[in-house]
Amino acid sequence: MASIIDVCRICGSTELHDVLSLGDMPPVNSFLRRESDAAVEKKFPLAIVFCPQCTHVQTTHLLDPKDIFEDYIYFSSMSSSVVRHGHTLAERYAKEIALAAGDLVGELASNDGCILKPFRDTCRVYGVEPAKNIAQVANDEGVPTLPEFFNSKTARKVREEQGPARLIIARNVVAHVPEVVDFIRGVAHWLTDDGIFHVEVPYVVEMADKVEFDTIYHEHFSYFSVAALDRLFREAGLVLWDVEDLGLHGGSLIARGKKAGTEPTANVKRYLEKERAEGYSTIAPLRRFAERTRALQTRIPEYLYSLKAGGKTIAGYGAAAKGVVLSNYCNVGKDILDFVADRSPYKQGKWMPGVHLPVVSPDRIFAAKPDYLFVMAWNFFDEIREQLARYETELAGKFVLPVPEPRVVATAPVSAARPETKK
Ligand SMILES: [Zn+2]
Repeated sequence: MASIIDVCRICGSTELHDVLSLGDMPPVNSFLRRESDAAVEKKFPLAIVFCPQCTHVQTTHLLDPKDIFEDYIYFSSMSSSVVRHGHTLAERYAKEIALAAGDLVGELASNDGCILKPFRDTCRVYGVEPAKNIAQVANDEGVPTLPEFFNSKTARKVREEQGPARLIIARNVVAHVPEVVDFIRGVAHWLTDDGIFHVEVPYVVEMADKVEFDTIYHEHFSYFSVAALDRLFREAGLVLWDVEDLGLHGGSLIARGKKAGTEPTANVKRYLEKERAEGYSTIAPLRRFAERTRALQTRIPEYLYSLKAGGKTIAGYGAAAKGVVLSNYCNVGKDILDFVADRSPYKQGKWMPGVHLPVVSPDRIFAAKPDYLFVMAWNFFDEIREQLARYETELAGKFVLPVPEPRVVATAPVSAARPETKK
């Protein structure tokens, strides 16, 4: 069962307005071990609403923990861009706040410790990661990690045992926390008085403007605007002090918090004014987003069928949450895609929830030689293109991207292939 959320996660208002329903959707990590498991597959309503009081956009249904699949494992270290990002953050904060040997840097949902590792050259690190097997990997690799969910209670324990943190990093986790105000209260408690809270979240304005409806799934509860983040931080005793564009993963923000009493930077004011000017204090732009999403529901499969005309073949790439939502909502199944390739060995050999497409190793692309590769993990497209360079250069394969409009990507000239940049 899923419980219905009828109270705003940030401000507690009970006046929530419907934005978009994606229908009944399987939990994005419920990969089938056997194709016959499809008979007992569960689906739950997936929809988002808007709170006119605080402008927060949020999902309406909370899944029962037993319906969320725990055995799916994602290791951050498997993505070279995440590894590079860790180095970028370590260099940035070593300079910006002059981290020293005795200082503590904490990370929430720290995964296998890959972001914290480069900080160890400068200071102490401590991760909090609820997936016990992943936390164990981090501990084994020398990144001390508490295998628990973070909340205000955990924060008291961590501060007592490890001391306050000068920097707390939360990448792609704040949007996944149901009781988000309590989570940020925990951060406020763990932070030193001059500490920085570094948050990375998908930006609702980008989602709406670029029709990134596949960002919506059950475990992704919150879709933040800067105005909503500002309100959330204040509810929890922090100030939204700075905002910038993340650059990585397209369409995400870095929001930085400090303790109450700090004056926000001009960036915060600029973002807030821009959101107001574009109507994001109202539901109007979200209603437009919902209309464009409903149009894509037929446009995407029609486009893929048109590519197949004349006997061409298409395979999918990326069995991540986005791929599950996209393929299910747009009904992109076995009659369109021959298979879906994904780098995660935990997904290979299984079937995607709902559409039941077989998930295989990327090696299969070079054996089956599909004419087109439909990139469902489009947020990692640059990285995927780099990894699969031979698909374009040797097989003359073409990539297809789904949003904001389905399209074939122009083939990169060989001389323009980007070398792996080391930072
Ligand atoms: Zn609200």
